[in-house]
Amino acid sequence: MSTLKLFDSSALERILCVVAHPDDMEYGASAAVSRWTQDGIEVTYLLLTHGEAGMPQHPDEVREVRRAEQGAACQQVGVTDLRILDYPDGVLEMSLDLRRDIARVIREVRPQAVLSTTWEAVAPWGLNQADHRVAGLSAVDAVAAAGNRWIFPELVDDEGLEPWSTSWVLVSGDASPTHAVHLRQTDVDSAVASLEEHETYLAALSGHPVPADFIPEILRGGGEAAGVEFALPLRAFPLG
Ligand SMILES: [Zn+2]
Repeated sequence: MSTLKLFDSSALERILCVVAHPDDMEYGASAAVSRWTQDGIEVTYLLLTHGEAGMPQHPDEVREVRRAEQGAACQQVGVTDLRILDYPDGVLEMSLDLRRDIARVIREVRPQAVLSTTWEAVAPWGLNQADHRVAGLSAVDAVAAAGNRWIFPELVDDEGLEPWSTSWVLVSGDASPTHAVHLRQTDVDSAVASLEEHETYLAALSGHPVPADFIPEILRGGGEAAGVEFALPLRAFPLG
C-alpha cells in the first residue's frame, strides 16, 4: 500500500466544512479540525439540516437538542462559527436553492479549503445515506458556483457577495484518499470528546459503541496509511 502524503495546511487561513447533519463531523473529521484550529486556522461548520429526524422524539424537540449538542461538540475542537441551514432531515435533495445557500456561505467565509463527506453510494463503512450523498455533491457544486460571477448573480447584485475561488476540495470518508492530516494525541482526544457531546443523540441509538472505543482506532488506521501514529485520510482535489 502506498503511503498517503501528509496534507500541508500551512497556507490555509480559513476552512469551511459542509455536512448534512449534527455529528457528521464527529466520526474522525473533527480530529483534523482540532489540529487546524490549534494551528490558528479559522474553521466554520455549515450543517445543511438539524438532524431532527434522527431520534424517536418529536422533530421540534430534537432540533434544539441536536443544535445544542453540535455547539458543544464544536467547542471541543475550537470551532466558534456554527451555521445550520434548516433543510429537512432525511429528505435532502439536490436543488439550486441548496447549491445557492452553500455558495452564499462560501462567499461569506472565503475559505481556502472546503471539506465535505463522500458522496459515493457505497462508502468504506457501508451504504452511504441519501442526505450524505446530496451534501457532498452539493458542496462540490457550490464551490464551482461560488467562484463564478455569472452563477447566482443575485448573490452579487442583491447581497454584495463577490465571487470566491476555493483552492482545495477535501473529502473525508472517501474510498480513495490521496492525503492525510497528521494528528497529535490531543487532537484524537478532542475528537473523542466532540462525539461524546452528542450524548442525548447517541443514547437514543441502540448499541452505539462508546466513542473512546473506536474513534482512536479509526484515526490510528489513518495513521498507518500515512506512516504516522494518527491521521485523518482525505481525498484532496487542488483547484485551478
Ligand atoms: Zn449524517
